[in-house]
Amino acid sequence: MVEQGWTRRMIHADHPVYSARIEWERNWEAPGVAYDGNHLGMYILRGLGKLAWLLPDSETARYFRGTVLPRLLASQDPDGYMGARDAGDHHGPCWELIAESDMLETLLFEYRVTGDAAIREAARRLSEFLVTDAAYMGGIGYPSMPSTVPGTRWDHPKALFRGMLMAAHALTGDARIPTRLRICYGHIREAIRTQLETSGTEEHWSSGHMNDISHAIQAPAVMLLLTADPDDLAMAIRGAERVMEIAGQVSGYPVGWEAYEAKDPRKTTEHCNFIEWPTACRTLFNVTGQVRFADWAERALYNGYWGSKTKDGVALQYQSAPNQLVLAPWMRTTRDGDKYGVNHGWFDMQHGPGCCNVFSAEAFPRHVEHAVARGQSGGVAVVYYMPCQFMAPMEDSNRLELIMDTDYPFDDRVRLELRLAQAARFPLELRIPTWARGAVVTVNGSALDVVVQTGSMLKVDREWKSGDLVEIAFDFPLQLVWHHEEGCVPGAAIQRGPLVFALPVSARWEFAGEGQIGPDNIRERWHLFPAAGSLWNAALDVDPRNPEHSCRLVRMANPGLKKAWQYAPVGLQVRGRRVTNWGLAGTPERPETPPMPAAGMLEIDDTPVDLTLLPMGCTELRMTCLPFVER
Ligand SMILES: [Zn+2]
Repeated sequence: MVEQGWTRRMIHADHPVYSARIEWERNWEAPGVAYDGNHLGMYILRGLGKLAWLLPDSETARYFRGTVLPRLLASQDPDGYMGARDAGDHHGPCWELIAESDMLETLLFEYRVTGDAAIREAARRLSEFLVTDAAYMGGIGYPSMPSTVPGTRWDHPKALFRGMLMAAHALTGDARIPTRLRICYGHIREAIRTQLETSGTEEHWSSGHMNDISHAIQAPAVMLLLTADPDDLAMAIRGAERVMEIAGQVSGYPVGWEAYEAKDPRKTTEHCNFIEWPTACRTLFNVTGQVRFADWAERALYNGYWGSKTKDGVALQYQSAPNQLVLAPWMRTTRDGDKYGVNHGWFDMQHGPGCCNVFSAEAFPRHVEHAVARGQSGGVAVVYYMPCQFMAPMEDSNRLELIMDTDYPFDDRVRLELRLAQAARFPLELRIPTWARGAVVTVNGSALDVVVQTGSMLKVDREWKSGDLVEIAFDFPLQLVWHHEEGCVPGAAIQRGPLVFALPVSARWEFAGEGQIGPDNIRERWHLFPAAGSLWNAALDVDPRNPEHSCRLVRMANPGLKKAWQYAPVGLQVRGRRVTNWGLAGTPERPETPPMPAAGMLEIDDTPVDLTLLPMGCTELRMTCLPFVER
């Protein structure tokens, strides 16, 4: 494939499983998240811009190009400043820098899509402003935020170091940009080195906001592109591994808020981290080619991201947990009580400080952007499976179109159709996730005679012609992810492919917002409690050595025209028994999700109960980590 030229991807917006668009639209015009200079609104710009690109014929695209972009361009003053302002938030003026950076990235992206000279010029001026006039780009970040000093805080690297300045360099050729980047990335690299060298306790990873650490983890890997020093890459990999060691939940993503924390299924993760963590993981995959990082990104999105949203995609939890039975103002993030204060785990569209509300819109557009990429062997790599269409220019004015049809992650089969102007030889790389036991890959109906290695990119190098059909049938076994905690019985979550299953708990929704309940009210807020009589305190009667023996995967019927996350296309039928001495924590007035039962104290009812576990992303109240009946 040629380097230059712009590859285009489109998602099938009406696909019953993937459904890309409706989930976000209602939040866009919400007061407080407008994009007209408001720093929070800037978060949404990239998501909106990418959706306009993914859905070129949509209302979204018309809205973005017809309303948002003209307003944005009109806001630019002669110096290139685009008018971002601090919305009175406690974070102060560094938000302006984030906002201006977001606008630059949006403009650069839009220019690459449209080739519009006016947008290119606006991007060039903004880039010039950021490099020259903005004192905070003097090499060490914002002067009032000593955030990139090694070993202290790493605040806001997500804005400063996102790599958009590299893109600006490609656009403008400004030789000052790589120098600045080298200094900025260098500070983060040193901070991570210090963390890794002194680490051993979670406290060492607690100096900085979790989202920022997530984003910073990828910095040394990006630094590699500037330094060619393999130590940089090794450091990024060790950093990511360390985070998962300390904080990796049974649901497959790290736990924490202001800090990474020791894993515990009732501890929460901030919604923003379901966007930043996958971003770092995708970067690590892109740089290393190691499939496990792509797997990590998928797990966080399908389980964490969807697990913290209402199933229409509209409202979200600021913080959510694998085990959550009560979403109310008194819920706590940590086992020890109020170390990090109360936890905003209820559903709303307007939590303070507001980051997640708008940031949420970026999660899937960013993911789709990386679905199909240039492979390490020079061909085309299919990295993330989803219903989409991919187009790319190739050598000798050839052109590839790839149509991917699948109900992944709810189905294990993927169908890829290639369309080419002329036949061409190139390797097609297919990601075989680490959780696959194997896969059968066919080309035009004939099985390939290859050894499929899990956790690798399978290369199919041959001459391709238009109409060729590649089909993948994965074999995803059931696996248990254990959680061991001192003083508690061990618990585990059952996972299959990218999906982690949870026991859904019917909820009583309590309105706690302002105004009338209805689709136009963005000040709705809901607290959730387990409905009377709903079973949550179960032990699974599953053979841990052979979970497939005691579980049955079933397809669930769609009771209407519901989206996949609303009705759960698959379920896992298992036998369980009630744990009679495991009740809610807290007080009757202020109930809380309990920890795992104390070790040696499990009292289990004799009567078996039939349970249907659902993908965690399809649930609101749930128990994902459960104890097991001893066999
Ligand atoms: Zn947030």
